[in-house]
Amino acid sequence: MKCPHCLKSFHSDNHHFQLVNDPRSSESTDQDGRWSVLWEKCPSCERLIIHLCAKQADKAELQLVHPKGIARAPLSPAVPDEFAQDYREACLVLADSPKASAALSRRCLQHFLREAAKTKKKDLAEQIDEVLPSLPSFLAEMIDTVRVMGNFAAYPIKSTNTGEIIDVEPGEAEWLLDTLEMAFDFYFVQPAEAERKRDAINAKLKDAGKPLLKEFAPSPSEVPTPPLNRYHRTRSVNCRKSDQSRERAGGRNHTLD
Ligand SMILES: [Zn+2]
Repeated sequence: MKCPHCLKSFHSDNHHFQLVNDPRSSESTDQDGRWSVLWEKCPSCERLIIHLCAKQADKAELQLVHPKGIARAPLSPAVPDEFAQDYREACLVLADSPKASAALSRRCLQHFLREAAKTKKKDLAEQIDEVLPSLPSFLAEMIDTVRVMGNFAAYPIKSTNTGEIIDVEPGEAEWLLDTLEMAFDFYFVQPAEAERKRDAINAKLKDAGKPLLKEFAPSPSEVPTPPLNRYHRTRSVNCRKSDQSRERAGGRNHTLD
């Protein structure tokens, strides 16, 4: 199994704790079955993982009670709060309600496509159509699968009212989170990292009295540069960028408003 704390995989060897020791007793049994507690310790992070188990004749249902949600890699501070908050909540409720998690993620994706990818369409399915041609194939496939997996044709509400809590396909909620993570990485994290490295090198060049790095404009055949939108500009100011490099960053993208 994968540890919900640290995400490392390990061989599961759980301990079983009956609520009532006497197997003939009905004290710990209700219509869901006989309740017990399963627990184990992750050998990597040494944290406890605790499930409640309701066992009936042919099946056992497990509910993760500790930790509350499944950990995912922490988001970079380069991701603006207005997207990060919905994403974190979607992670937090995933174990209890994949439906609620998917609704938060879809709403977050729609907001992200409108504000960061600058789509103009109203429905999520149309926004996805609009943004796909400008994305590298790995991200386009992730985002397009959101629509395919969510079966938007059969459930148009997923596209028109993204925050609605409705049924999800197996794995759909997790896929949405993976897609958001990748989109954030492409639009916010990678440009911020490239900028940070560039600034570090430019600082050294400046100290040595040498010319600063040359800025390359992407050719039309290259992977499109994510829009350097207002989020990047805000962050740039926080990063003590020189006026010169701010100008360059602003001048890179032709779609700036
Ligand atoms: Zn662990």
